[in-house]
Amino acid sequence: MPINPRYSKLFEPLAIGPVTAPNRFYQVPHCTGMGYSLPETLAAMRSVKAEGGWGVVCTEYASIHPSSDDTPFPSCTWWDDGDVSTMSVVADAIHEHGALAGTQLWHGGLYAANKGTRELPFAPTGGPIAYLNPLHAIEMSKSDIKDLRRWQIDAAKRAKTAGFDIIYVYAGHAYLPFQFITPRFNQRRDEYGGSLENRVRLFREMIEDTKDAVGDRCAVAVRFAVHEFQVDGGLSSDAEGREVVEMLADLPDLWDVNISDYRSDSGSSRFFAEGSQEQYTEFVKSVTNKPVVGVGRYTSPDTMVSAIERGVLDLIGAARPSIADPFLPNKIANGQEDDIRECIGCNICRATFKACTPIRCTQNPTMGEEFRRGWHPEQVPQKSSDHTVLIVGAGPAGLECAATLGARGYTVTLAEATNEPGGHIGMAAKLPGLATWSRVRDYRISKILQMPDVTLYKNSPMTADDVLEFDSNAILIATGSRWRNDGVGRSNRSPIDGCFGPGVLRPEEVLSNSEIQGPVVIFDDEHYYMAGALAELLIGQGHSVTLCTTAPEPCVWTQWTDEHHLLIPHLYDLGINIIVSHNLVSFNGSSAELKFLYSSETISIDCNTLIPVTARKPNDSIYFELLNKLECSDETTTPTITRIGDCLAPGLTADAVYSGHKFARELGIDSTMRPLKRERIIMASPAFD
Ligand code: ADP
Ligand code: SF4
Repeated sequence: MPINPRYSKLFEPLAIGPVTAPNRFYQVPHCTGMGYSLPETLAAMRSVKAEGGWGVVCTEYASIHPSSDDTPFPSCTWWDDGDVSTMSVVADAIHEHGALAGTQLWHGGLYAANKGTRELPFAPTGGPIAYLNPLHAIEMSKSDIKDLRRWQIDAAKRAKTAGFDIIYVYAGHAYLPFQFITPRFNQRRDEYGGSLENRVRLFREMIEDTKDAVGDRCAVAVRFAVHEFQVDGGLSSDAEGREVVEMLADLPDLWDVNISDYRSDSGSSRFFAEGSQEQYTEFVKSVTNKPVVGVGRYTSPDTMVSAIERGVLDLIGAARPSIADPFLPNKIANGQEDDIRECIGCNICRATFKACTPIRCTQNPTMGEEFRRGWHPEQVPQKSSDHTVLIVGAGPAGLECAATLGARGYTVTLAEATNEPGGHIGMAAKLPGLATWSRVRDYRISKILQMPDVTLYKNSPMTADDVLEFDSNAILIATGSRWRNDGVGRSNRSPIDGCFGPGVLRPEEVLSNSEIQGPVVIFDDEHYYMAGALAELLIGQGHSVTLCTTAPEPCVWTQWTDEHHLLIPHLYDLGINIIVSHNLVSFNGSSAELKFLYSSETISIDCNTLIPVTARKPNDSIYFELLNKLECSDETTTPTITRIGDCLAPGLTADAVYSGHKFARELGIDSTMRPLKRERIIMASPAFD
């Protein structure tokens, strides 16, 4: 289909210093959990973005020296000439599809614990490092500053040799050059401290050095956080944040501007709407003649065009939208914008990076699997068997499986018990702040509706007999899971006293129950979003709500998704009574007894409704019934029966989507013939030399 002319502006080339971006889609640096130890994994992933139409594709943070080591978090490195060969694989893979390759040179200063290299951390002013770690950084001497400038130059030259087109000076996310700028971290009395001009000196010098070193062929970009979110005394976009941009206005070739720190820069959809950074970054274009790129989880082409037309940005920066849909630009170019797999802002990609694994994405199950499994986000192998497939259950696993099988050319019937396909994601999307999550369901349903060989039947609860009567030789059970109501979970491996009695509600029963009796106690032994979201819902309905958790903080797993720092004050502000580090001992219909984890002390809380958020049970009875029936059957050929998603093992939505996708990709293919590809360490010299 032709492009909608409204979006043509997004495909205009733009000069960035000595190089030219082919369009306005700019994949800003983002962490991947791959880094220097998985260069082929990284190259394959970045290459797919370039193939999908991103005009600029950048690497994640790339350390310029062993004194900036984020171990165990994987980063790229430019420490020595040996990095040129691994990083050139990444640049080549990006260039193959006509995109510019960028790399973000990084020194973390106070934010680098150097656990791997054991170098001492540096800082403008000595003191405890910024991570929770009992280690101090040493104050940089003039000679250390000279060294730092040399490391930046050396790294930039290596990046140029490796073929990169855009090379960063990185003063975002509170890293070292930024630490010099903010008086919070800089109390120096020499020419690098005191006045703003002095505090900006190092940043300016690094930009000038980098331009001198590589500016003939490479664009020199800066990444600068113009505003610090929720930091007392932090940089502000209407004060020094703006003044820094004014001072350096046309010095860099490109301004890549955002807010700090990471948790707000990649703010979840629960707290940050699309384009929400504009209020902080919109001034930048008025004080520089150089191109400006900024982020804001942009997934709508209308919003993107509007940002350019309103003079807020020249290039649409994206990390998560490019993770959720590496082909977002091409879809707009081909008039297929309705087919964009929009990021839901859940930050599972952040959580997986922070767990030091290659990133995973709720919406895009191929993310991180490009190299080792050879998965492509838009291409699937054609069907390779004569299976006709029945899928029972249209939650994220069933929907993804049906859509992927349909794309392969299989004939699929998808039977959903209820009137509302979507399973658990439909429920989650009705909870406060989580409406965007419905995109997981809506994207897949819209795909399925375009597939003539995939039929979705709503209001079709299936029994084992129904399934067997259906003439299909591959049966998938995707019936999901249900929350336990007996309190069993991580902390309690046996049922809790009173949990079977009246007044106990499962989370999924809360939305459909209009007669909830307060006061309510939510017992959270799961620690992700559910308990907090239910507490918010119920207090909004006027109930008195206590959220009791076995963890030392409420909803503690949301630390991984960068939500915790905003969620906790939000829950307190709402007036929820929060009790941490307590286990539920019993419930008698009118009160719940809680025990402090670190003593024998117990407390009793008035409670007419108890909602345990502890663990889930797979809805697998139909699966086992089918196995039994088939075992007793005289038929010579019987269908294959497989469980996928939460019905097999309850987990994240991302896990359910992945499970459905994996089954669909591998149907009819002997997966043992395709072992996971691994990156091997090559010994530079013979062992035991
Ligand atoms: P997952 O995350 O694995 O996709 P969900 O719990 O989100 O699991 O979704 C499971 C879906 O299966 C729900 O929409 C539910 O209504 C549906 N379902 C459960 N049992 C049956 C059944 N017997 N017949 C048809 N659909 C079912
Ligand atoms: Fe977006 Fe969630 Fe995917 Fe991250 S994991 S890119 S936030 S959908």
